[in-house]
Amino acid sequence: MGCAVAYFLAADPGFVGRILVLERDPTYEFASTTLSWGGIRQQFSTPENIRMAAFNIPFLKSAHETLAVAGEGPALSLREQGYLFLASARGEASLRDVHAIQKSEGATVEMLDPGQLASRFPWLNLDGIAAGSFGYENEGWLDPYALLQGFRSKARSLGVEFRIAEVAALERQGKAVVGVSLTDGETIAAGWVVNAAGWRAGALAATADIQLPVEARKRMTYVFDCREDLSSMPLTIDPTGVGTRPEGQQHMGLVSPPEAEDGPGTDFELEYDLFENVIWPTLANRIPAFEAIKLSRAWAGMYDYNTFDQNAILGPHPEIDRILFCNGFSGHGIQQSPAAGRAVAEWLIHGTSRSLDLSAFGYERIAENRPIYEAAVV
Ligand SMILES: Cc1cc2nc3c(=O)[nH]c(=O)nc-3n(C[C@H](O)[C@H](O)[C@H](O)COP(=O)(O)OP(=O)(O)OC[C@H]3O[C@@H](n4cnc5c(N)ncnc54)[C@H](O)[C@@H]3O)c2cc1C
Repeated sequence: MGCAVAYFLAADPGFVGRILVLERDPTYEFASTTLSWGGIRQQFSTPENIRMAAFNIPFLKSAHETLAVAGEGPALSLREQGYLFLASARGEASLRDVHAIQKSEGATVEMLDPGQLASRFPWLNLDGIAAGSFGYENEGWLDPYALLQGFRSKARSLGVEFRIAEVAALERQGKAVVGVSLTDGETIAAGWVVNAAGWRAGALAATADIQLPVEARKRMTYVFDCREDLSSMPLTIDPTGVGTRPEGQQHMGLVSPPEAEDGPGTDFELEYDLFENVIWPTLANRIPAFEAIKLSRAWAGMYDYNTFDQNAILGPHPEIDRILFCNGFSGHGIQQSPAAGRAVAEWLIHGTSRSLDLSAFGYERIAENRPIYEAAVV
């Protein structure tokens, strides 16, 4: 997000000033971005999330040219294989409602009944499935690290300064954030500060007595081999919430725990019970070819989880000046980075996200206790 904001700011002819990106770890080892699945989709239930996708996807499709430096663009390895959301009889009405919203927003998605699912995806076991929603284009996944490096290199080529430094605290004077102090003791004054600290954003905001409901939520990814070639399957979400997608000849599995069992992530320890007890049995039931698989590796990453409503928190604070948020994307921040980066840049330059009205994601909704209910969270 920091690199995306920096790129859109630097690329806007209306911007006058200097841009400094402070990054505590230039290897990005524990950043959400590098540990992400890189999925991109239109299938959201909130119109603003679908509208963001309508900008993000064309941007990502042409990022190789837009973000090119000296004729060389990032290789995002975008695979447009779609997302397939499956619903049981219990979830069918909700899937259809969300589908209607998506269609009204112009998303290229289709509802499939069990017969259509069987002929399109013969590797699925359709026991207990009433319907599926398939994004047949403009959905899939990309290499998130390549996107991060693409924004970073392009921003640097446009004059953005990057510095390895850890922000210890936001510096606040009265009703304004006036800069940051670093862990080495240095203080940097700034006209504006953008909080793009990912899963650490809530803790960073707290240093200026700003309550930001963003915390780390651990998510395990399991990578496994399957003998059958299912490499062309879409990213598939079972009604239980267990998701899988191919990665070359391998496959990945993930599930978010029920909200009541989910808590702040405190470590990156690998946990295999979740795979053995939940993910593998669920996937083997839904995709019988996954009964005979071999787990090859796993990793833990953190969602930058918005505990208020699992949606982005974008733009200014209603009462505290000179701070902008680009936080709380939960499980969908990779794909939203173009629209979010552009919106924050526009707020900074023009005082509003004028290309696309994203005021719904403003901090005000938190202060006024108006959560956005997004049905399609993964
Ligand atoms: C397993 C997993 C799967 C996911 N799948 C998807 C998906 O399919 N599609 C999708 O769109 N999204 C997905 N996400 C979510 C997505 O990865 C995040 O929403 C997104 O990467 C957030 O980007 P960010 O720049 O805000 O955070 P980060 O990538 O975490 O970057 C924040 C940066 O800030 C730096 N930083 C933090 N604090 C400080 C400080 N005090 N001083 C200096 N630097 C600091 C960190 O070092 C880090 O590099 C997934 C996430 C995970 C973990």
